[in-house]
Amino acid sequence: MNLLWEENEMDDCLFCRIVRGEIPAAIVYQDDFVIAFDDITPQAPVHTLIIPKTHYTDMNDDIPAETLAAIYSAVPRVAGVKGISQSGYRTIVNTGPDANQTVLHMHVHVIGGRSLAHGMVIFGDE
Ligand code: 5GP
Ligand code: ZN
Repeated sequence: MNLLWEENEMDDCLFCRIVRGEIPAAIVYQDDFVIAFDDITPQAPVHTLIIPKTHYTDMNDDIPAETLAAIYSAVPRVAGVKGISQSGYRTIVNTGPDANQTVLHMHVHVIGGRSLAHGMVIFGDE
């Protein structure tokens, strides 16, 4: 988080640019705090990202509880829009290098639409 930026926006952050409408995205849901859009490289039939509209780098970035609540409240709404409430889904938040976080604007993956493997973790060095 860089407090020098007005409203916590980051000029060159990919997801901040999506929030500002500078980069197109297939928007699934939005409210005052969050925006949800389909992942550009889906790893399952449903793969949607929920992000805070304000820039936070990752889960370590002192995200206010109100914002975290909004992010996770959006999860079942996204699942409902996508029609996977009953079939089920997985939510993942990658944080930092060991988790291979590639976009440094905190986001929750909502993944479903087919049966997923029971094991959640595949080690990168195997
Ligand atoms: P991470 O690896 O950081 O947990 O997840 C970042 C996700 O953002 C990846 O699944 C990747 O496919 C997605 N992504 C990267 N660039 C874009 C983009 O420009 N638009 C959309 N919709 N998704 C993106
Ligand atoms: Zn950002």
